[in-house]
Amino acid sequence: MTPIRGKRAVVLGGAGFVGSWLCERLLADGAQFVLAVDNLCTGHEQNLASLRADPRFDFLNHDVTGPIPVTGGVDFVFNLASPASPRDYDRLWLETLRVGSLGTQHALELAEAKHAVMLQASTSEIYGDPHVHPQVESYFGNVDATGPRAVYDEAKRYGEAIVQGFRRKRGVSTRIVRIFNTYGPRMRLDDGRVVPQFVAQALRGQDFTIYGDGLQTRSFCFVADLVDGLVRLACSNEMDPVNIGNPDEKTMLEFAEAVRTAAGGGGKIVHLPLPPGDPKQRRPDITRARTLLGWEPRVPLVEGLRQTIEYFRSRA
Ligand code: NAD
Ligand code: UDP
Repeated sequence: MTPIRGKRAVVLGGAGFVGSWLCERLLADGAQFVLAVDNLCTGHEQNLASLRADPRFDFLNHDVTGPIPVTGGVDFVFNLASPASPRDYDRLWLETLRVGSLGTQHALELAEAKHAVMLQASTSEIYGDPHVHPQVESYFGNVDATGPRAVYDEAKRYGEAIVQGFRRKRGVSTRIVRIFNTYGPRMRLDDGRVVPQFVAQALRGQDFTIYGDGLQTRSFCFVADLVDGLVRLACSNEMDPVNIGNPDEKTMLEFAEAVRTAAGGGGKIVHLPLPPGDPKQRRPDITRARTLLGWEPRVPLVEGLRQTIEYFRSRA
């Protein structure tokens, strides 16, 4: 019996990549009711296709920068609503600031009204271009408040601040997860992030576009592992931020070769200019997740890439 059995959850951003996996996981764990709320600005109803026949599931097309109308009891509010890829939040810059500020406030007000636990999807971008490596939760970060990533990074930093405000001043039971780069089926092929970019290039036999020298690093976590961490954190009593990510760190050059091997294709490496503000290194310290939640990533890159490539192949 998991702690989710019989519980009622609202997933803001539920039609997105991570949100749709979370809805699926909550229902598989025996949730009594799951409501996905999404305005579909970067998500897609198709992501929820497998859940539509489940009487315990519902979808509300709604922008969470306005108050969120939910009837009946709620045990958990998961706030995942926000554009998440650099290409998306550059295009939707004002929407990103609004959803990170107003949207997070409405998520907290919903949780307060329902006496629910509120889990905030924060990000490794809180650490900016980090000087501390790997990144521990106690590191305050190195964030450029006016750079091209600022609309996202500062919205997420404000998000953590308002979550702590509602916790301290209004007694709301809150959780903050700092999510590191996550990948898997249902990422959008055109969202510009490196995983769909390289997979698409491999499947089409195109050159791999490496930004800069390719020595910058990221650590990629498979989405099922992330979602397991979200559920564990929501069901814990841990109110301070917790990193969830896979510490398996790769340069982008190494990552392109891993995708080439997994997909069995792709052209040569071509170098394009590095976008300004692109963090040079990123790897989570997951000591807190390990000790507080008993959480570990389980899916190795080879297996996660296999599933991701299969998904993109089936949609090509
Ligand atoms: P995504 O774009 O696939 O999902 C975000 C969802 O939020 C989309 O369905 C979008 O339509 C919805 N949304 C955005 N603004 C909204 C609004 N105003 N009202 C209602 N819905 C709105 O992105 P994702 O990768 O699934 O990311 C989910 C969350 O996790 C985001 O908050 C993101 O910042 C965070 N995160 C993700 C990663 C990652 O690697 N995927 C890393 C760090 C943090
Ligand atoms: N990147 C790349 N080629 C691409 C897309 C991205 O080399 O076609 C690099 C990008 O510059 C960054 C890394 O891959 O250093 C991860 O980019 P992504 O947009 O996936 O996530 P983020 O930078 O937000 O971690």
